[in-house]
Amino acid sequence: MTREDAADILNRIALLLELKGENPFKIRAYKSGAEVVESYAGDIMQLAADNKLAGIKGIGDALRDKLHEMATTGKLEFFEKRGEAAKISGFGDKTVVKILESIAFRAEHASEFRIDQVYALALDILDTLRAHPAVSRAEVCGSFRRGKETVHDLDFLVSTRKPEQVIADFVALPQIEKVIVQGGTKASVYAPNGVQCDLRAVSSAEFPFALNYFTGSKEHNVVMRQRALDRGLSLNEYGFTPTEAGASLSEAIQEIHDERDIYRALGLDYIEPELRENSGEIEAAAQGRLPALIQLENLRGVFHNHTTASDGRGTLREMAEAARDLGLQYLGIADHSKSSFQANGLNEQRLRAQIAEIRAMNAEFDGHFRLFAGSEVDILKDGSLDFDDDLLAELDYCVASVHNVFNLPEADMTRRIIRAIENPHVTMLGHVTGRLLLQRPAYAVNIPAIIDAAAETGTIIEGEIEAALKKQRAD
Ligand SMILES: [Zn+2]
Repeated sequence: MTREDAADILNRIALLLELKGENPFKIRAYKSGAEVVESYAGDIMQLAADNKLAGIKGIGDALRDKLHEMATTGKLEFFEKRGEAAKISGFGDKTVVKILESIAFRAEHASEFRIDQVYALALDILDTLRAHPAVSRAEVCGSFRRGKETVHDLDFLVSTRKPEQVIADFVALPQIEKVIVQGGTKASVYAPNGVQCDLRAVSSAEFPFALNYFTGSKEHNVVMRQRALDRGLSLNEYGFTPTEAGASLSEAIQEIHDERDIYRALGLDYIEPELRENSGEIEAAAQGRLPALIQLENLRGVFHNHTTASDGRGTLREMAEAARDLGLQYLGIADHSKSSFQANGLNEQRLRAQIAEIRAMNAEFDGHFRLFAGSEVDILKDGSLDFDDDLLAELDYCVASVHNVFNLPEADMTRRIIRAIENPHVTMLGHVTGRLLLQRPAYAVNIPAIIDAAAETGTIIEGEIEAALKKQRAD
């Protein structure tokens, strides 16, 4: 067996593990093992045959045994078994193509995480840093602080007079799986789920500037720096420095204690991190017309919810009580319709029974809380709906969504969705692009045309619009 064959097998194992959703460390071990096998300067297959791989970086114990087996027997039993499993599972050609596409999509997004997948970890580490006796201020920066849907890594920032001690304690945290680099004021580590966490330690005076710089976005920072230069100041992650033109400002810039002061010094209202994308926020801040962001207490209820009747995790009663306990004023129930059979969608009879159950339950809530009876109705291939109008008329509202035949040409998909929107019983359009974050790309659809149709018919569009429009612009 050649080294290329051995590397190929290791790479295939990595793919199979990825497909299975295995631990990212295990996957990475096979991938980097394959790289080492391909690029090693000596005769690595001979070394493997002679059991002399010990000490070669990137080849752990498990890989060493596997390489020895390949070098001596010309095959790898572990891999043959897996390969058989894939063959006899009866995957059809179409399925294989789909699997390959999904592997490619996931590989493209391999180092990204949904914000909910890292949220608890980020707050946990942040709490630990804030509780450290040598830390005076700590924040998570980057896209996490800007509230993006997905993040590449977590950027922690602390102000401290004892950077080395804080860094040493950080890399020793139980939440940390592996240290990548550790320096005097900076460390990079991996958490067990594979997300990279960086920590930077700065002084108190630098903290607001570093916080602003590492929160980004890059585009926002570029405009901030230019605005500072226009005022005779050079701005970076450490502070303001007056340029020749700004020599008279050296006293004024001593008074920067937090990010608000930086914005104030540049003649701007404070810009919330969620708005820092250079999409008009600087101009709005200069003119004092920034929007107020939606706060959690603005949320009064939610409409797109599933129960155990289809593919949800809580029963109707559990959902209602949880929503009421959260302080919501209403909850809409929109289980799947019959064509979404894989999600146990409700047929006409089950939906009618659920409507009756909701009406009966509402009588218990004495006016402080209310359930709405709805349905997430499938938009069929031709744009017709999964239930007839008589049944839809019995509902309080209706969410219409595409759940199958994602591969229509853009014009057909757009026509299909607009036809559904035009049904007077449709209150909202569900997940307009059909994407699953980091799992499935959006389908082809003309978003501006959908927005026009929704505006005309008074149909609400669920989320994703900003991302969808951005993507369309990029295309
Ligand atoms: Zn749906």
